[in-house]
Amino acid sequence: MRIFKFGGASVKNPDAVKNVVRVLQHEGTENTLVVISAMGKMTNAFERLIKAYTESTDDVKPALEAIKDFHTEMLDGLFDKGDEVYTKVMYLFGELAGRMAINTSADYNYIYDQIVGFGEILSTTIVSAYLTKIGVENQWLDVREYIKTDNNYRDAKVNWELTETIIKEKVDTTKLNITQGFLGNDGEYTTTLGREGSDYTAGIFAYCLEADSVTIWKDVPGVLNADPRVFSETELLRKISYTEAIEMAFYGASVIHPKTIQPLEQKQIPLYVRSFDDLDREGTTVLKTEGITPEVPCYIVKKNQILVSISAKDFSFMVEDNISDVFKKLHDCKLKVNLIQNSAISFSVCIEDKFNMFDTFYDELKSFYTIKSYRDVTLYTIRHFDDEAINSIRAKGKAIIRQINTETAQLVIQEKG
Ligand code: ADP
Ligand code: ASP
Ligand code: MG
Repeated sequence: MRIFKFGGASVKNPDAVKNVVRVLQHEGTENTLVVISAMGKMTNAFERLIKAYTESTDDVKPALEAIKDFHTEMLDGLFDKGDEVYTKVMYLFGELAGRMAINTSADYNYIYDQIVGFGEILSTTIVSAYLTKIGVENQWLDVREYIKTDNNYRDAKVNWELTETIIKEKVDTTKLNITQGFLGNDGEYTTTLGREGSDYTAGIFAYCLEADSVTIWKDVPGVLNADPRVFSETELLRKISYTEAIEMAFYGASVIHPKTIQPLEQKQIPLYVRSFDDLDREGTTVLKTEGITPEVPCYIVKKNQILVSISAKDFSFMVEDNISDVFKKLHDCKLKVNLIQNSAISFSVCIEDKFNMFDTFYDELKSFYTIKSYRDVTLYTIRHFDDEAINSIRAKGKAIIRQINTETAQLVIQEKG
């Protein structure tokens, strides 16, 4: 059994969908489960719809129209008018409108998951119908019947035992299965595994089915030593150990979702990252090995960070009691900590405010602590750094914090201009 994952970029327009089919035909369509994300940038488009809907603004209609137009153009590029897939897609939009009309919940995260998931459902419905149209037999699975989670909407935790039992029992491993990434179900409602969670979905299926491999198909030749959108010169990493991949993902390398690797490592399932444009290239293999090949510094960039320095107003040291207090608030406010630095009287953290909760955090701590914050700073992490690598990052602006250990250097930079 093989697991394939195609992200948004690989289904961004009709030609891209045709290319997915080319990949499948080249690689073979048996014993395969294919995880597919929402098309192109549709998850962002759904997020705009959700924002407008929850804030009851006039933008609901244009946001919904943009999503409908995108999918209609996709259908027009792949099918003849009158194909039954048009009815299926219309039905899904009807279901979405119905959900929005009857919702009474004020829980943003819950609403988010109920709406955003249509991106994946639409995408897989279209790809599956296209495969059928051109004669490639396939089985469309609703992933919500397989991946069971808690009800922590937008960042749901997998119930591994239940999920494994269901997947083992219900997936026909001889066939070509098409399913959605990113989604789960809490027993009653749709949940999501966090943005970019489709890689994780592939990892979950691979673990439960004890698959031979997972392949993530990308618009890049594999995992590079830096984000090509930020760095002009990059190198392909041909081999990466599970441990190294976990470290890189943990520090924010956006090319593989952080939760994906551990389930694969446990069962020693290799992960291939390959180019969907160039099927002859080997790409990257994540496997049980040491470090990375070739051994070059790897750069991980996290923009839009907030650096916060916290000290106690009563002059007490920043030790166990104060720090646990601060950490509890960070956790309650869902602020993701990407770097920690501690001295006797000050405790600094570099955080990411995905859920717009920083002001709440600040207000709750300000009576007991002096809090200094630098907004919009960038966190650079260099794995396997050398002096040249550090100097190249220092040249980007003012370094507010620098933290170095054997394998990893981290710099918080206030960038120029
Ligand atoms: P997907 O369609 O699979 O979700 P994404 O757009 O999320 O794909 O990720 C692919 C993009 O990730 C690439 O086009 C590339 O610009 C970017 N990227 C960031 N860091 C890396 C890296 N270290 N190696 C390769 N690509 C990277
Ligand atoms: N469509 C979701 C997102 O864009 C999940 C994924 O692509 O992995 O975040
Ligand atoms: Mg992605």
